[in-house]
Amino acid sequence: MRVVFLGAPGVGKGTQADKVVAQYHIAKISTGDLLRAAVRNQTPLGLEAKGYMDQGRLVPDSVVIGLVKEKLTELTKAKGFILDGFPRTVPQAEALATVLDGQGIQLDRVINFRVSREEIIKRLSGRRSCPKCQATYHVDFAPPKSGSSCDRCGEGLVQRSDDQREAVGMRLKVYEEQTSPLISFYEQRQLLSHLNGAEPVEVVYRELVHTLSVYQTA
Ligand code: AMP
Repeated sequence: MRVVFLGAPGVGKGTQADKVVAQYHIAKISTGDLLRAAVRNQTPLGLEAKGYMDQGRLVPDSVVIGLVKEKLTELTKAKGFILDGFPRTVPQAEALATVLDGQGIQLDRVINFRVSREEIIKRLSGRRSCPKCQATYHVDFAPPKSGSSCDRCGEGLVQRSDDQREAVGMRLKVYEEQTSPLISFYEQRQLLSHLNGAEPVEVVYRELVHTLSVYQTA
């Protein structure tokens, strides 16, 4: 299966992508994860991206496309992949189509996760992340067993700078202006399926597996 996960920040794309990867052993590219790793490692690209990310703005297309192009070319050889958080603009979607066309392959499906604005704000503002192993928690919905440190590796949890209030407002605005046009972009190409991301994680996952079942590769 070759799929794109689309949706505003906080709809649960990353959580669902991780579950699909664990069950079907397909590859995943999360541009958010790649960019955060570049920031942590203080690479030139990370230093360029950090300012945009902290403010909740999109990193320029040229930077993100350059970052994922090589990975995408590798991925097209895998038996399947999920793109989480990419594409996020129409030029990125066009760049993706060009790379895939060049490899003679196509996307199977684009899943659009839908969640209300109020719920997204609640989810993002309560999210806490482990800076070491990247596990995520929520202060109300999925608190760590051990208070304020990571259940997996014991590191102290932090709030991502872009999960802070002002950045969340900016990310939602950026989503509306720059990413939501991808809904009609993929609708026109008859690739889009909508999922209600407001349901509990396991319910969303069941729906997702049902939607993707036709595209499962052995
Ligand atoms: P995410 O973890 O997917 O919410 O991404 C975190 C931040 O990384 C975003 O708010 C953007 O600043 C940046 N980012 C991630 N993916 C992209 C992308 N495809 N295009 C531009 N910026 C991105």
